[in-house]
Amino acid sequence: MNTRQADLLAQLADVPVLIWGARMTGLGLVRLCRTHGIAVLGFIDSDPAFAGQRIAGLPCHPPAELPALRAQHPGLKIVVAASTKEAEINRQLLGYGFPADSFINYSGYCDLFYTVDVMGTCNLKCLSCAHGAGGEKYARGQMSFETYRQVIDKIVAENDLVTHISLYSWGEPFLNPALPEMVDYLHRHGIAAALSSNLSIKNEALLHKVMQHNPEYLKVSLSGYYPEAYNDTHGGGNIHLVRSNLLRLRYYIDKYRLDTVVDVNYHLYNNNNGRNLQKMRELCAELGFFLSTTFALVMPLERVIDKLEGRPSPSTLALEPKLLVSVEEGISASRTVDRENPSISPADCPFLANQTIINWDLSVPICCTTFNRGPNIVAANFLTASKAQIGQGKAQAGICQTCVKHGLPAYNLGLNRSRWEAVAASKPSFDLAPDA
Ligand code: SF4
Ligand code: SF4
Repeated sequence: MNTRQADLLAQLADVPVLIWGARMTGLGLVRLCRTHGIAVLGFIDSDPAFAGQRIAGLPCHPPAELPALRAQHPGLKIVVAASTKEAEINRQLLGYGFPADSFINYSGYCDLFYTVDVMGTCNLKCLSCAHGAGGEKYARGQMSFETYRQVIDKIVAENDLVTHISLYSWGEPFLNPALPEMVDYLHRHGIAAALSSNLSIKNEALLHKVMQHNPEYLKVSLSGYYPEAYNDTHGGGNIHLVRSNLLRLRYYIDKYRLDTVVDVNYHLYNNNNGRNLQKMRELCAELGFFLSTTFALVMPLERVIDKLEGRPSPSTLALEPKLLVSVEEGISASRTVDRENPSISPADCPFLANQTIINWDLSVPICCTTFNRGPNIVAANFLTASKAQIGQGKAQAGICQTCVKHGLPAYNLGLNRSRWEAVAASKPSFDLAPDA
């Protein structure tokens, strides 16, 4: 066992432990703790979808329960395992009266979180995404299992502690036939697997095989319950297929007694937040899946910058009337988190500091928010670039200055959610659904 890992585990031995962050980072940490006999009391997570639920067999509490939990468990240690929202969570913990030595930032031990985009394309063309905004002009392809194996081996060799790896960025991983073996390869290294899919996937056999490998986390992104709403923003998808695959997931989870956390990520537009949302909530509740909502954004970063600098693409112009929170409103809402320090500097940007993304073609982008090839690629080949070279490339990337100037790191993080909700509530909404 390496020093960092030993140091972290020593701090967690023989004390009551809670993990703040019930998604992939926290799930990877639970896997590590279980492997080394560390008992974890449960999770803390501010997502209302998780409150009071059991995740990976552990209870999940909302932050408001922290004072009671501390009274109940003297010596409580909290590990903050939420890679992009650490600073915000630290502020909340201090606000609850937790001294700084009562919580640990997991990033202090595991300083880089890896994403391997195993598929370089998607079967859908969503209006809010690079694939629906002309992204097809870039080469498409998939990562072979042999290349993937080299990538994972290099990540493991270069890092003291790797507890989860995400197998998606801009691509649809369930289009890669090697996905079951890829999940298995992570598990053979003691690493948790995080997946994300549109689930409009016709390959039932592949879905079955992947689930048999018990991935820890599966996000399902969608934007409606009825085709009328879903088709409007998930171009080329089929919500009936998505719904039938959700049922299949439940069947596999029960049949094989899987731990997979299925996290349905509902993209909010102004035409899907009534009956569509309600019906999807009911379906998820029936299936025992989590449903979280997120305001649809304009992505990728290059496209937002073009829009803010007066060069909106035709796809951006088509998307804007459907948004509940416009780009400008989102930037303004997220900026109000800390009035004394309204924007995140490049040095503090969590996307820059702790992420490494490896595209299907082995190129390494500055962060997950950018899509285009060209200057936003900081290393042409992950396998031949050292960690230091990638870090240097990131430090020199010109786009960070532009991004920060426009307040986009906070916008991409969706900081200050209550402000976004207030903006959305002030907007007219209608729901695309069949007549009652
Ligand atoms: S399903 Fe996801 S990756 Fe595919 S086009 Fe839509 S948003 Fe992009
Ligand atoms: S481009 Fe923006 S979001 Fe990405 S690392 Fe740079 S500052 Fe952060």
